[in-house]
Amino acid sequence: MYQLLDGKATALQIKDEIANEVRHLTEQGHRAPHLAAVIVGTDGASMTYVANKEKSSHEVGFTSSVYRMSETTSEQQLLETIEFLNNDSDIDGFIVQLPLPKHINEQKVVNAISPKKDVDGFTPYNIGRMVLGEDCFTPATPMGICTLLERYGIETEGKHCVVVGRSNIVGTPVANLLSRNKKSANCTVTLCHSRTRNLKEITLQADILVVAIGKPEFITADMVKPGAVVVDVGIHRVPDASKKNGYRVIGDVKHSEVDPLCSWVTPVPGGVGPLTIVSLLENTLKAYKRSHQM
Ligand code: NDP
Repeated sequence: MYQLLDGKATALQIKDEIANEVRHLTEQGHRAPHLAAVIVGTDGASMTYVANKEKSSHEVGFTSSVYRMSETTSEQQLLETIEFLNNDSDIDGFIVQLPLPKHINEQKVVNAISPKKDVDGFTPYNIGRMVLGEDCFTPATPMGICTLLERYGIETEGKHCVVVGRSNIVGTPVANLLSRNKKSANCTVTLCHSRTRNLKEITLQADILVVAIGKPEFITADMVKPGAVVVDVGIHRVPDASKKNGYRVIGDVKHSEVDPLCSWVTPVPGGVGPLTIVSLLENTLKAYKRSHQM
């Protein structure tokens, strides 16, 4: 019988820990940590993500602000907003919600974020330090995956971890983190992508399978070794007339057939997603402590 890596419950527990710390800080007369978010345009999923980040910030006692910019915002206007946030000493960390409209160069925007406030961990500075194993802001989703495995005491040392997907924000950093020489890591990692040959042969070797490909229910039972730990990063909205909001959320793994094979598996929703937000909060608290020299 498989067990759930319950991201929702773990996130609640960590949020409680953060809230206690924030309460302690404000009782001592310090201001609360402040997380800001910039959103360009009105993409439904992005608006939901930003709303969830705002809600979670309030839950732990952070100050939260959202900079909403129109779809037609120019790259220059966005860069000026980033410059403002970089220099505002009341803001400890901020994120720019991706994806951005096509006319804006995403990497140029990310590069403009001060590494000290880059709580998403996307800037070259933080990515470079992560690869070197130096103290840094670790990208939120990979950090959340590692936290989930660690909190559930999943044995990782010497295990074969197959990561499917090599994006800069999920696949590549999680592959790096799980291969590091440290506790809750030390995996032998194989990183797969769209040019990988015989994907199924490789995923069948995985003790730990991390899936971040952005293709609904792509991973099926015939691709999973019995007893594997499966982490599903995918998030897709599919129309569902039986739901009040008209859709339901599914992942990159076909859970109806894969879950019975697993020892542990993340549900979708309620798996990796909540941990991503919590990691953002943890990074913001870290940025706050750094700027207050705590
Ligand atoms: P990207 O689209 O940036 O990357 C997808 C990766 O999957 C690419 O490396 C691509 O390979 C690879 N890929 C695509 N098709 C195949 C295939 N048939 N076989 C093997 N590899 C394939 O996605 P992201 O990493 O940004 O996101 C992945 C999923 O995770 C999405 O559903 C996204 O919504 C979700 N997500 C969830 C988060 C959370 O908090 N839970 C946070 C971030 C993302 P190639 O490089 O060759 O193109």
